[in-house]
Amino acid sequence: MGIEKRTAFVSGASRGIGKAVALKLAEMGFKVIINYSSSENQAKQVLEQIENFGGEGRLACFDVTDRKACKDEFKKITEIEKRLDILVHSAGIRKDGLAVRMKDENWDRVIDVNLTAFFNLAKPAVKLMLKNKWGRILGISSTSGQAGVPGQINYSASKAGLIGAIKSLSKEIGPRNITVNALSPGFIETEMTDSLDKEEIVKTIPLQRFGTAVEVAAVAGFLCSEEASYITGQVIGINGGIY
Ligand code: NAP
Repeated sequence: MGIEKRTAFVSGASRGIGKAVALKLAEMGFKVIINYSSSENQAKQVLEQIENFGGEGRLACFDVTDRKACKDEFKKITEIEKRLDILVHSAGIRKDGLAVRMKDENWDRVIDVNLTAFFNLAKPAVKLMLKNKWGRILGISSTSGQAGVPGQINYSASKAGLIGAIKSLSKEIGPRNITVNALSPGFIETEMTDSLDKEEIVKTIPLQRFGTAVEVAAVAGFLCSEEASYITGQVIGINGGIY
């Protein structure tokens, strides 16, 4: 696989699930490129944590919906790291509201960040992975994309779309030894779920609690490992029993 350090790019890695995945991959020995769009202090702390245990990483501040910025970042990767082994698209937002009242811009933005950005990142990532004939691509979908949730027409559509994109891509690049999978978390304790009524929600979860970002990252780590070499095109639920 060449002499350069194996490298992972994680979008939305300044906090929450993306952060936990970045830390996990760094622990596994990958150099991790930590993407974020505005939370600079949080992103710096992630890098510090990685360096504190002897890992390697670098920050990449840009909005993943900006196609030119994505292309520029991959040029940088080609120059600096010279390879890419793992892409995780974790950057995501929600802007909930009933369909009839939803502002057009809230539809557009959620689809752009959660779904279109996956294409913006996966296209140049695959080109780099093809060189090594090895790769792992993960997208963070959601139970909302599988079941549909009222008030989340934009979010559910973006996460269902992500599953379609992942399944399609897995069939295109399976022959090149690159696996592509979706994680589908249920309710995970992060800033994204801070405002929810937890007491009511946990009553609907068989395991009777929210999951943690570390629990999601454990599955991501496995799917990015050599041991997961025969798993592709799958949607792996991490949801405490709801689906
Ligand atoms: P979070 O805590 O709100 O973190 C979101 C991350 O995405 C932050 O690092 C944020 O950084 C980054 N981000 C947002 N927009 C971006 C953009 N345009 N460009 C680059 N980075 C951007 O969310 P989370 O709960 O960890 O969610 C991570 C993923 O898991 C999302 O895709 C979410 O939909 C999915 N998910 C979450 C849950 C859950 O219960 N938490 C359940 C199912 C699925 P900046 O602040 O710097 O932009």
